[in-house]
Amino acid sequence: VLSVRNLRKQYSPTVKVLSGLSFDMKAGERIVVIGPSGGGKSTLLRCVMGLEKIDAGIIEIEGQRYIEVNAVHGKENYIDKRLRENVGMVFQHYTLFPHLSVIGNLILSPVKVRGESRSKATERAMKMLTLLGLSEKAHASPAMLSGGQKQRVAIARALLLDPKMMLFDEVTSALDPELVVEVENLMLDLASQNMSMILVTHDMWFAKRIATRVIFCADGVIVEDGSPEQVFENPSNQRTREFLKKIM
Ligand code: ATP
Ligand code: MG
Repeated sequence: VLSVRNLRKQYSPTVKVLSGLSFDMKAGERIVVIGPSGGGKSTLLRCVMGLEKIDAGIIEIEGQRYIEVNAVHGKENYIDKRLRENVGMVFQHYTLFPHLSVIGNLILSPVKVRGESRSKATERAMKMLTLLGLSEKAHASPAMLSGGQKQRVAIARALLLDPKMMLFDEVTSALDPELVVEVENLMLDLASQNMSMILVTHDMWFAKRIATRVIFCADGVIVEDGSPEQVFENPSNQRTREFLKKIM
């Protein structure tokens, strides 16, 4: 579903964040990205989401050219914004629009981006909320939800655009421990439906449960890439070993 080739990104001339990163993701894979703070995990997800201008590289979604930037001129020579709809992303901090109700948040993109009718979008959104056990919150303001509920609504909002893959950037890091589980369970549900996903998480217990593949990212490149067993139990790289020793 996703191919990333030689992705380069720096925010300033001195700080290289991603320096030629490549990987392919097959449908149904669940990749957990781990690595030191500042190592570029969020930047990687934001680039895949098309939220950052990349300096060089090619990103393809479902075999279609999504973004291509030639390293020599560093100019975007291609971007197909419609492909972005295939990617859903949820962030660490709640990104619901505070002035809209839950249902308002959910139908915004289906109506605005996709041109769906309000009634059709509302019907789909209500079904989704019922599935999540949140139907009684449909008309509540996001401020009245718990952190866990907000994150589940944020995930629901992304799902209403029928993404081919989901990107989760530390979506449980800001939650109280007892709320983490409800959000993790929702991600596990998606996993059981074979949703392709890339997750950044510091929760190694959850990573082991959900990942089909683990990528260790440091200094702007992929240092290690393998099954959870390989990377967690038997890392081949010294940097990975040191990192895991610190966090496990
Ligand atoms: P963490 O585990 O702390 O979330 P990360 O691996 O997600 O870290 P990034 O957020 O991708 O790391 O940041 C990579 C580097 O890029 C860091 O040095 C960071 O300071 C820098 N950076 C990130 N976003 C910006 C920005 N918008 N402008 C300038 N520098 C940035
Ligand atoms: Mg980050």
